[in-house]
Amino acid sequence: MKPWILERQLDELKEELLGAGFRAFTARQVFQWVYHKNMQDTAAWSNIGKADRERIAELYECECRPVLESRGDDQGTRKFLIGLADGLQIEAVLIREKDHYTFCLSTQVGCALDCAFCATGSMGFRRNLSSGEILSQVLTLKKELGDYSGKLNLVFMGMGEPLLNYENLARVLRTISEPDGLSISPRHVTVSTAGILENLKKLEKDFPQVRIAFSLNAPDAILRAELMPVANRENLGDLLAHFRGHKRSRRLTCEYVLLGGVNDSPAQARQLVRLLHGIPVKLNLIPYNENPAQPFRRPDEAAVEKFRAVLVRHGLTVITRWSKGQDIRSACGQLAVSTANS
Ligand code: SF4
Repeated sequence: MKPWILERQLDELKEELLGAGFRAFTARQVFQWVYHKNMQDTAAWSNIGKADRERIAELYECECRPVLESRGDDQGTRKFLIGLADGLQIEAVLIREKDHYTFCLSTQVGCALDCAFCATGSMGFRRNLSSGEILSQVLTLKKELGDYSGKLNLVFMGMGEPLLNYENLARVLRTISEPDGLSISPRHVTVSTAGILENLKKLEKDFPQVRIAFSLNAPDAILRAELMPVANRENLGDLLAHFRGHKRSRRLTCEYVLLGGVNDSPAQARQLVRLLHGIPVKLNLIPYNENPAQPFRRPDEAAVEKFRAVLVRHGLTVITRWSKGQDIRSACGQLAVSTANS
C-alpha cells in the first residue's frame, strides 16, 4: 500500500522526495497544492512537471477520505460523515459563526472515556485517527467553504479525547501552522479535554498558544466521577491545581454540559464558583442535547438561566451555548452512532 501524503509533515516529505531524486523545493510545492490550494489531484499541480507529478502519484496516495453523508441546518451548521479506509466512520462539523467559521474535528474513532452523557462514549473505543485522517477532515470542511479566505477556528471537540492521541494531534498542529500549508495559527486552535494531565502539560509546552477547553461537567469530584469515569484516574484536585498554577496567555475555557436535575441546581452553581476559585476561566454552559439512548434530560430555559445567574453574580464569565445544529443531531458522536445503528 502506498503511503498517504497527508501523513507526512513538510520536513519528512522533503527528505523523502530528495531521496527519490526530486528537487529541494518540490515538497513545498506539493504542500501548497495539497493544503494551501486544497487540490489533491496531482494532475492539477501545474507548476510541477508532468513526469514529476506522475511519479508522486505513483509514490503516494494523495486524496482525502470520502464524505459518505452530510446534513445541514438553516443556521449554517453542516455535519459530515467521513469514511475511513478500514470501513470505520468519523464525523466533522462545519459551524458558521458571526464573523468566521469553526471546524469541529474528531481525533479518535469512538472514545474510551465513556462519559455518561456522550454518544461517542457509548460507542466504545475503536482506534486513534492518524494525522492524515484528522487533516483530511480539515481539508474536506475547507472545500465546503469554496474560496472563503477569512478566519477559521479549529476545535478538537469531535469524537474522541485528543490528548489520548497526542502524537498525531501534535503532527496535525505542526502541519496546519506550516506557512506553505494551511497557515492556521495555533492561536485559532482549541483542544478540548476531559483532563489527561500528563499530555496536557506536553501540549502546553509544545504549543503554548493553543487554547484549552476543560470538560468539567460537575461541581464536585464525586459527581464528576459518576458522569466521567476518567475522573477516577485523573484527579480533579490535581487538574485544578495545575490550572491555578499554570500561567497562560488566555483564559482557560471550562465546558459544563447541563443535565436536567443532575448538575444544574443553583446550589451546584454556588459549589462550582467555589471549585473554580482562583482560576481565570470562561465557562461554557451547554444544555444537554437529548438522546433516546441516554437517561438524561435537557434542562429548561428557566433552570439554565438561574444557574447562569448565580455564576455571573459571582463574577464569572459565562456563555450559554444552546448547541448549534441541534436539529441535525449535533451532539458529540451522534451522527456516526445513528448511522452505525441504522
Ligand atoms: S465527552 Fe469527550 S471524552 Fe467524554 S466520552 Fe465523549 S468524546 Fe470521550
